[in-house]
Formats: sequence, C-alpha cells, structure tokens
Amino acid sequence: MKVTEYFEKAGGKTLTSFEVLPPLKGGGMKAIFDTLDPLMEFKPPFVDVTYHREEYIYQKRDSGYFEKVAIRKRPGTVGICASIMHRYGVDAVPHLICGGFTREETENVLIDLNFLNINNVLALRGDARKFDGKFIPEAEGHGYAVDLVKQIDGINKAAYLDKNIVGGEKMDFCIGVAGYPEKHFEAPNMDLDMKYLKAKIDAGADYIVTQMFFDNKKYFAFVDKCRAMGINVPIVPGLKPITKKYQLVSIPRLFYIDLPDDLVNSIENAKDAAARKEVGIEWCIAQSKELKKAGVPCLHYYTMGDVETIRKIAEAVF
Ligand code: FAD
Repeated sequence: MKVTEYFEKAGGKTLTSFEVLPPLKGGGMKAIFDTLDPLMEFKPPFVDVTYHREEYIYQKRDSGYFEKVAIRKRPGTVGICASIMHRYGVDAVPHLICGGFTREETENVLIDLNFLNINNVLALRGDARKFDGKFIPEAEGHGYAVDLVKQIDGINKAAYLDKNIVGGEKMDFCIGVAGYPEKHFEAPNMDLDMKYLKAKIDAGADYIVTQMFFDNKKYFAFVDKCRAMGINVPIVPGLKPITKKYQLVSIPRLFYIDLPDDLVNSIENAKDAAARKEVGIEWCIAQSKELKKAGVPCLHYYTMGDVETIRKIAEAVF
C-alpha cells in the first residue's frame, strides 16, 4: 500500500515508522532484523531504508604516494526492502538519490522496484561526496531532487527514457521528498528553500519527511509556511534522540540544525553517560507526545542502529 494511503486510512491517528541503514559491506540482514524485530510491536506500516553512495578515501601506496579510491561501504537497498517486506509484511521505502546515478540507471532501479511490488520511494538529491566540496551530478543524471521526482512521476505515466517503448507498463509510485524546518544548508534563505520544496510537490511528490529537529516550534512553523504557500501534502516529522555528549557538536555540524538551550544545558549538566542518554530519550519522548497530540500523520524515527533507545521512546509514546 502507499504511504499516503496509510495516513488516509489512519483517520487522524498518528502512526509510527522507522528508518534503518543498510548493513556495512560484509554484513547480512541480521543487523537489520535485530533492529526491526523489537520495533514491530509498534506496528509501523512502513520502514525506510537509506541509500549510501560511494565515498572517496585516500589509501597509501607502497611508493608512499596516496591514491584516491572510491568505496561503497553500504551497498544495497532494493534487496533489503524486499527482504523486509517478505519478513514482516510491512511496506519498505527505499531512498533513491540523484548522486551517482544516470537517469537510465534510475529507471532500471524503478523497474526492479516495480517488479518487487515496492511502490513507495523517498526521492532525494544526496549530499556532496567528501572531498568533492559540492554536489556533482552524473553527466546523464539529475542535479536536484525535483528532477528525480519528475522522472518517477513520468514513469508513473509510462514515460520511459526510450521513446521506442510504446504501451509500456505504468508504475504507481508514491513519492516522498525531504523538507527542512531549519532550511537546507545550501539554500541562501528559507523562502527560496520553500520555493524549491513546493516545486518538488508540484512535480508529483505525495508527502514530505522532515530533517530531524529538536524544537517542535520549528516543525509547527514549517508546516504553517507550507500550508500558506499551498503545500497540502502530509508532513512527517523526522526524529532522532541525542544520546551522547559529542552529538551536541556533531549534529549541528552534520545536519545544520540548532539545539535548544534547555536540551544542551541538561545534557551538559547530567552526571554521567547514562544520565545524558536519559535526558536525550526524555526530550525525544516529550517532542513525540506533543507532536502526536497535534495530530501529525506519523512519527518517523531515525534508528541509526540504536534499537534499545528507539524502543524506549516508542513504548512511552504508543
Ligand atoms: P534538493 O531538494 O534537490 O535540494 C538541495 C538544495 O538545492 C537545497 O538547498 C535547495 O534549496 C536547492 N534547490 C533545489 N532545487 C533547486 C533548483 N531547481 N535550483 C537551485 N537550487 C535548488 N541522503 C542520502 O545520501 N541518502 C539517504 O538515504 C538520505 N535520506 C534522507 C532522508 C531525509 C528525511 C532527509 C531530510 C535527508 C536525507 N538525506 C539522505 C540527505 C539529503 O540527500 C541531503 O540533505 C541533500 O543535501 C539534499 O537532498 P534534497 O533531496 O533535499 O535536495
């Protein structure tokens, strides 16, 4: 079923969903099942699987020189999604990115997903690779998520790249896109970022999942802005608990978001690692409860492999 159909069917009840990372190369599905098994009692109608493109590393050669090599630490998505659907009978939402894909490669992935009856996707641009400095699309690829949305919307209408295909099968993907309550870091200002978000919806996207945030006011203001400019699709808040002190620095650096003073002070004043973790969990529970009370369609948790923490939060909220 489509993600948006779950929201419609829920009739205003807040659902929950989880996001998992593919295992590191060399690992199997066990890591994902170990994460999801304890979360299934919360009845997520869908589970997201992130996509990780290749990254560059520098390897020292015998000569002493360094060689730049591309490696993919977390390959896979399509097979993982199929495996999740098979084991749990829930829908799986693969993240599709522009980076590293030509349009033809994207089309072929969509065809595979369609064969497997996977009809939800989250369409993203992807970040710049480390050492690239800025996002560089493939020569025959997409530069922005909106172009990927257009391609998926096109294949929903049987518009294949090969114009010789006549009477090809229409697909039926439900398309999610990313939204940024605190602005995407590359956008010169919020208004322009919102304009580009609206373009993704106008191009055929069906719902939005937000970047994580730690101050619900930012989410509510973002939803108000969306509604004011005619973005009427469901907006799913993405949530992640802070559980370690170093995240006070790493989260703002990696995700370009602010952390509220109260949260920072409470974590800094906590007596030890266990107490810090408890502060982060309680904060996320409070955020979740307030969002649920406000009637959000779904609470989407970034698990990052920390199932114990996410389970504690879900137990308190659902
Ligand atoms: P876009 O919507 O293309 O926007 C990128 C930037 O370009 C923004 O600043 C926007 O304002 C600007 N822009 C958009 N359109 C135009 C235009 N036409 N002209 C000029 N500027 C424009 N990354 C991964 O690699 N794998 C994942 O699995 C993954 N999952 C994610 C899940 C969620 C819920 C979120 C919020 C992010 C995820 N990301 C993932 C990170 C995401 O790929 C990055 O944040 C990326 O930098 C932007 O992706 P986007 O889809 O928002 O891009």
